[in-house]
Amino acid sequence: MYQAKKSEQDNVYFYSSELTEKTIKRWSTENNLRESLENNDFILLYQPKVCSQTQVIVGVEALIRWPRENKVPIYPSEFIPIAEDTGLIVPLGKWVIEQAIEQLNLWKNTACDHLSISVNVSSRQLYNEGFTEFVIGALKNSNIPAFKLELEITEEHLAPTNQEAKIKETLKNLTDIGIKISIDDFGTGYSSLSQLKILPISILKIDKSFVDNIPGNSKNVAIIKSIISLAKNLNLKVVAEGVETIEQLICLREYNCEMIQGYYFSKPITHLEIEQLVLKKSWSVA
Ligand code: C2E
Ligand code: CA
Ligand code: CA
Repeated sequence: MYQAKKSEQDNVYFYSSELTEKTIKRWSTENNLRESLENNDFILLYQPKVCSQTQVIVGVEALIRWPRENKVPIYPSEFIPIAEDTGLIVPLGKWVIEQAIEQLNLWKNTACDHLSISVNVSSRQLYNEGFTEFVIGALKNSNIPAFKLELEITEEHLAPTNQEAKIKETLKNLTDIGIKISIDDFGTGYSSLSQLKILPISILKIDKSFVDNIPGNSKNVAIIKSIISLAKNLNLKVVAEGVETIEQLICLREYNCEMIQGYYFSKPITHLEIEQLVLKKSWSVA
């Protein structure tokens, strides 16, 4: 039934043992997710976003991890879609936001006071009743200014659906109080430039697939330069993701990409490691 529902058109799927195996695995992951959520078993790691010119950390992206003792690791790309399908993303997403705000609170009056945290959110969270009030309440409880929280959404979450109006209303209400919205993986999904005109977007994140193989790949170079120029003309900030080499960093700096994120600077790390990195102030690279 899940397979049939997932396909684009009306479809019939026949039972197969492979399907049963998949269904059992999925069902077991779903149950484990529920249990881990109740037991508070998740953790957040943080990946630095670095200013391309000064090489100072300006913010971090929160990325969820599911530590499972002595078991095969399950990565977010596997369990987040299951959490989305089952609705578990709503409580899980709330936990992520609460945790990120708590971290901002702990960083008050420390060397990390200037950092913003961006959090990935799914469309299901954005059309869930009470999401705006939840975020506003969480910021208020910790007395965190709204501009310190960024929400990352992908283009597919903005695609026309029956929840489109509700999602847009939520984004508007959140940006009205000062929260920043980024478009994640920009250019890889349902790209509608009119969304940039209508929606209160502040940041575009250039997907890793465009950053790979620059400067050698001239098409990627052309796409990146176009995204940066589009962002500048619309008064948006740009972050390049998945930057792994010094060559990529040099190119992106030359194209005036403001912020860099990727393994070249750091993998996602714990809050303690972020604190140590910030104290180091900057990387001694090119
Ligand atoms: P994303 O938001 O596009 O996050 C970037 C992913 O690329 C992360 O994978 C990060 O660890 C990885 N990455 C960063 N720099 C590099 C690099 O230089 N090279 C390579 N090869 N990879 C890099 P991760 O943490 O496994 O997350 C995968 C996806 O899962 C995320 O993609 C995001 O869509 C989703 N996700 C993660 N945490 C959350 C969360 O708290 N809530 C929701 N809704 N989704 C999340
Ligand atoms: Ca992201
Ligand atoms: Ca991304």
